[in-house]
Amino acid sequence: MTIGSLPTLQDIYRARRTIGGHVVRTPLVPSIALSDAAGTPVYLKLEHQQITGSFKLRGAANALLSLDPEQRRRGVVAASTGNFGRALAHAAKQADVPAVICMSRLVPSNKVEAIRALGAEVRIIGSSQDDAQEEVDRLASGYGMAMLPPFDHADVIAGQGTIGLELLEDLPDLDTVLVPLSGGGLLAGIALAVKSANPKARLVGVTMERGAAMHASLCAGRPVLVEEVESLADSLGGGVGLSNRYSFALVRDLVDDVVLVSESQIANAIRFAYRQEQQVVEGAGVVGIAALFAGLIADPGVTAIVLSGRNIDMARHAEIVANAMET
Ligand SMILES: *Cc1c(COP(=O)(O)O)cnc(C)c1O
Repeated sequence: MTIGSLPTLQDIYRARRTIGGHVVRTPLVPSIALSDAAGTPVYLKLEHQQITGSFKLRGAANALLSLDPEQRRRGVVAASTGNFGRALAHAAKQADVPAVICMSRLVPSNKVEAIRALGAEVRIIGSSQDDAQEEVDRLASGYGMAMLPPFDHADVIAGQGTIGLELLEDLPDLDTVLVPLSGGGLLAGIALAVKSANPKARLVGVTMERGAAMHASLCAGRPVLVEEVESLADSLGGGVGLSNRYSFALVRDLVDDVVLVSESQIANAIRFAYRQEQQVVEGAGVVGIAALFAGLIADPGVTAIVLSGRNIDMARHAEIVANAMET
């Protein structure tokens, strides 16, 4: 297989034209409480208010709408049960493209139902993510369905990069951007957009201490496997893929720093987002707030924090926000 070329700023502008009308342009709002606490102007990019509850719709819609008519007719297939699966199911339904989401029988039934409710066909295969992936591969090679991965795909990265264009328009003199980091599609896309216009801007990836695959891979200088453990930031779990083609290289080359936050820092940030900003944000979505509060960002200057998703179990959310503020 030939290695595709890395996405460019031009691809991000094209993505914006492609997905316009299919996604919402999310607000960037100043946070008075965070600005006071950090002693610097802090803005929140409310991307958790995106349709389907996360930024994943931008990349999913761009990748899907960039397929040629024949590929669209054959449909798309993916193994993600989380925010990407949701986003792809929604984008496919809107564009009248058949979508199959494969998952193992261990996936909780509420997740299965959520994806089914978005109009995708769900196939329950085997008892592991690997089994589900085998079915994805079978549908892709046997039926010519387009396999769309959650982060390591040029059109997905370009779609996420449209957030960077919006940040530049709303806050041209920003110094630092804090971005949740897992497989790196979100950070790679935003970094590409922001650094192209403003090379001095500092791009910081934030992830959880528990099972940070991209962080371990950056330290090793190549993609490595990391044991997956439970975290409040469940949407940041999973590896970067040993044969990663795009996101690892882009994050390695464009990103200034990666910082790690603890489970209690994530819980505090969920609570803060709710109590001070009246925003329901999932664990993965608040890690930028957590990093700033923990003092992990030296001299942040004018700072934008990307809140990336809101898909948290509401009973769990109520439990977290009811707890007294720990420090
Ligand atoms: C997927 C996801 C991330 C991480 O995005 P990557 O492109 O994998 O780095 C962050 N936050 C939320 C809510 C997500 O769903």
